[in-house]
Amino acid sequence: MSDPTCGDVLVLNVGSSSIKCAVFDSVLHEVLRGGIEGLGPQATLRLGVLRRDVEACDHRAALAVLLEALDAQGVLLGNLRVVGHRVVHGGPRLTQPVRITPQVRDEIALCTPLAPLHNPHHLAAMDALAALAPDLPQVACFDTGFHATNPEVALRYALPQELADNGLRRYGFHGLSYAGLVERLETLAGALPDRVLAFHLGNGASACAIRGGHSVATTMGYSPTDGLTMGTRCGSIDPSVVLRLAEERGIDGARHLLDHGSGLAGLSGGVSDMRTLEARGDPASRFAIDHFIYWARRHAGSLIAAMQGLDAIVFTGGIGENSAMIRAGILDGLTWAGARYDPAKNSRHAPRLHDDGTLVTAWVLPAEEERMIAQAARDLVIMA
Ligand code: ADP
Repeated sequence: MSDPTCGDVLVLNVGSSSIKCAVFDSVLHEVLRGGIEGLGPQATLRLGVLRRDVEACDHRAALAVLLEALDAQGVLLGNLRVVGHRVVHGGPRLTQPVRITPQVRDEIALCTPLAPLHNPHHLAAMDALAALAPDLPQVACFDTGFHATNPEVALRYALPQELADNGLRRYGFHGLSYAGLVERLETLAGALPDRVLAFHLGNGASACAIRGGHSVATTMGYSPTDGLTMGTRCGSIDPSVVLRLAEERGIDGARHLLDHGSGLAGLSGGVSDMRTLEARGDPASRFAIDHFIYWARRHAGSLIAAMQGLDAIVFTGGIGENSAMIRAGILDGLTWAGARYDPAKNSRHAPRLHDDGTLVTAWVLPAEEERMIAQAARDLVIMA
């Protein structure tokens, strides 16, 4: 077992109401994982087996509590060699992991209008850490970066050029997860299949066409609201519906409905959790699941067209890794594209769902965003 005192890389995933963390050693063994949820006067700290209520009213306070708890478990701030941050939005220019300098920090701040609920919190954590440990290198890894290889025709909306120049274009998300899948699939399959259809299915859900290891199309767009039916987000929707909602409920009301009251929750009457929906089995829950599967298949068809065929399908994320029913539902709708799987292997969540000799292979792989961030941070700072 790894020794927490050898923590070299701290990975931080700072969200609006939580901070998740993972600690790795320099050969990328994970030594500790946890975080603080429900930021406020009664937040919950989890670190390894430890669980306790804490006061953490803002990100700065939460980070201080987290660092103290890490210290108590042998991960000393002074011993860390680098901190890697997941940054949701890098805009059009920040597409590769990068060491955080004042210039990079300013560039991330410039992307705030693109991710108003995320980038300010990332910056708060970076600033707080810089104040506590000015000499500790920090690295930013961008969830949008993997999709920078999409062709311009995939990235642009059919809007006038000046709007695209102003940032109104597609970006795509879940990029760190997809980059991790590519690495893991190459190792497991022996060689990377050319045309990979990847599904990251969690509370947020997206799919991506990956050709030769590079993203060529993805379902999320300007924001993570687009694409598949999700836990509480609506996915693809006619913009005229958005305009009508905005007229009737105001901008904030419309945004709240589309991001927090739609998707599985909207369809089922309030339940966004796939495991709960599967267990309930009432007509509304069943319809929500059918909608999720149907639109995953529909988007899959579009992605297969974008990469002109299909050689492998990969599932990850809480639903992708754990729901045999959803994987079967999606794969059963893609037999026309050559998808085949062994139901017994699917029930076991085996990494390899297909039998030998299958032309289009199917896989279940863990989402490894934190490890990808740790690897990038280590490579940029420790191995440099
Ligand atoms: P997030 O996008 O918040 O990181 P996760 O990747 O953790 O979310 O995925 C959460 C989703 O995974 C929830 O809908 C949850 O119900 C679903 N899930 C987890 N385990 C199972 C399971 N055994 N069967 C079906 N769904 C599951």
